[in-house]
Formats: sequence, C-alpha cells, structure tokens
Amino acid sequence: MTNSISTRLAVLGSGPAGYTAAIYAARAGLAPIVIQGIQPGGQLTTTTDVENYPGFRDVIQGPWLMEEMQAQAEHVGTKMVWDHISSVDFSRRPFVLTGDSGTQYHADTVVIATGAQAKWLGLPSEEHMKGRGASACATCDGFFYRGKKVAVIGGGNTAVEEALYLTNHSHDVTLIHRRDSLRAEKILQDRLFANEKIKVVWDSEVVEFVGGGDPETLVGLDIRNKHSGEISRVDCAGAFVAIGHKPATELFQSQLELDDEGYLEVEVGTTRTSIPGVFACGDVMDKIYRQAVTAAGTGCMAALDAEKFLAAEDYQALAAE
Ligand SMILES: Cc1cc2nc3c(=O)[nH]c(=O)nc-3n(C[C@H](O)[C@H](O)[C@H](O)COP(=O)(O)OP(=O)(O)OC[C@H]3O[C@@H](n4cnc5c(N)ncnc54)[C@H](O)[C@@H]3O)c2cc1C
Repeated sequence: MTNSISTRLAVLGSGPAGYTAAIYAARAGLAPIVIQGIQPGGQLTTTTDVENYPGFRDVIQGPWLMEEMQAQAEHVGTKMVWDHISSVDFSRRPFVLTGDSGTQYHADTVVIATGAQAKWLGLPSEEHMKGRGASACATCDGFFYRGKKVAVIGGGNTAVEEALYLTNHSHDVTLIHRRDSLRAEKILQDRLFANEKIKVVWDSEVVEFVGGGDPETLVGLDIRNKHSGEISRVDCAGAFVAIGHKPATELFQSQLELDDEGYLEVEVGTTRTSIPGVFACGDVMDKIYRQAVTAAGTGCMAALDAEKFLAAEDYQALAAE
C-alpha cells in the first residue's frame, strides 16, 4: 500500500530558503513538512567558514548554521522528512508529490526551494582543492584572499562580475578564458578592460589546480594554450570557477514556467509561480544574488505568500457556506 502524507504546506528543499520558509509557516500555524532531499542543509553544508551571514561577529561554519536552522524549524513545529521528490503533479489540488521512498505527499500549497548547483570544470585536482582555494563564489569567499593573487575561470557575465568584484580585495586578478573573446555584455567588458588590476589570459584552459604547503592550499593553476599546447603556471591563492549554475528544476519543466536558463519564473516582487498555490524561493528562482541571506529572505516571502493564499481560500470557503 502507498504511504500517504497530507499537509497544508510542503516545502521542497532544506537549504536556507526551505528552512526559513518552514520557520515562518510553522509560526503561522500551518504545520509544514520539509522534504529535505539528498543534501539535507543544502549547499552551505559543503563549505566551512561563513563570514557574511548576519548576526555572528565571529566566523561560523556552514554545516553548523544549517543544523541551527533545522533545529529552529523543528522547534516551532516543522516535521522533517528525509526523502527526495522524483515527480510532481501540479495539475490538481491538493498537489501530489511522489518521493523516491514511494510516499505520496498531498499538499494544499507547495514551496519550492530546491536550489542550484555551481558548474565545475570536473578536474580531480579541482575537487581536491575545494575549500583549499578552489571556489565557485567570489562574493562568498573573495574576502578570504584579500591582498593575494586570485584567478577567475570563465568568459560570461558572471566571470567578469566576479573578476571585478575581486578587485575590492586583490590587486592581481587573472581572468582565464578558453576563447579569444568574452561572452559578457559590452558594458561589463569595458569595465573589465579598463581595470588595471585585471589581466586576461586568452585561449587557455585549466588542466590542473596545484596545491602546496602544509596544510595544503592552492598555489596556482596550470593552464594549456589551446593553439600551442604549451603549459604554463598562473600563481594564485584563490581560483574562482565562474562557468554557470544549474538550477534544480528538471522536475517542474513541463508544469511551471522557467526562464531560458531553467530558473523558476515568479511574479515580480513575489514568490508566486505560474501555478496558484505553488511558490518558489532561494537560488532556484534567483540567478543574480545566490546568497544564504537572500535565499532565507525569499524563503520568508514564500511562507507569507502561501499563508495569505490559504487564508484567502479559507475565507472564500466560509463565505460560500
Ligand atoms: C561552497 C559554497 C560556499 C558558499 N558560501 C557562502 C557564504 O559564505 N555566504 C553565503 O551567503 N552564501 C554562500 N554560498 C551560497 C549559498 O550556499 C546558497 O546561496 C544557498 O545555500 C541557497 O539556498 P537554497 O535554500 O536556495 O538552496 P540550497 O542550499 O541549494 O538547497 C537546496 C535543497 O534542495 C534539496 N533538493 C533538491 N532537489 C530536491 C528534490 N527533488 N526533492 C527534495 N529536495 C530537493 C537539496 O537536498 C537541498 O536541501 C555558498 C555556496 C557554496 C556551494
């Protein structure tokens, strides 16, 4: 027999967006469930030092912050479920979500907070140097490399923005791009080329993240020129891979409106998706800021939007009696 759970509000995802939505929804009396997915706590569980989440003077640890958010959500009345949703049916109410466990979740409203994952180059040495100098977020980690040489890999808007941002901390930023021209908007390119702290290495791809010292940290990148095949070293303490992100939206493709990069579309200034009763928050609908605090902020908005939606429905049902 299929296991079945009914709820006023199901939150998909357990990053800062999902847990914050749950805290607000629980405190509004909605007794939400959070379906945590295969990465309970979300992206911040893959990092160590977090210095920019408000409220903490000292450096805190990403996994610790997420444990605290989970504990707070549970404390105010959220039920955690360890499951991964493999299909959704938003064509009828209550909405039906089916988990890998076989459980069916029937939800009056759904908050989608499934996040986005940074794309990486896929080199074993890159994997090894994550947390030791390899990063995919200059806003998050740039500050740790102040006064040091850094590199950015990529050629689109994000790469150029990350390079420009890093000049706040470093006088020596190298942008490494595998082509001979950038894809970034012209205005960003103009700012990049005008900035004396940034140099661009064209037609080159990274073949190795090079570590050194004890404890081991990044000391440079080995790059190969695509025409000559020559390998050379770019010295750097931090290397920022900026080749894009992939929002976790495959599940929703035929049911909700997505933009051309696969992010969930929401009505401007709200978290309302194209289906009434389904809300989206965090990195899955935000390709610009992608920060824990902005994810938490939109998580709050999604819970408040869902609460208002349900209250309006309850009122209509009462009025019709
Ligand atoms: C290495 C690293 C360091 C970072 N450092 C900082 C920092 O210092 N400061 C900062 O502000 N930001 C930082 N960020 C960015 C920050 O982590 C993200 O902006 C934030 O986590 C986004 O939150 P979210 O809730 O939208 O999604 P995520 O944190 O991505 O969480 C997504 C959740 O959705 C779940 N999920 C996905 N698919 C399904 C499914 N089908 N069914 C059920 N659940 C599902 C996952 O299990 C996960 O729990 C960092 C990111 C990384 C990768």
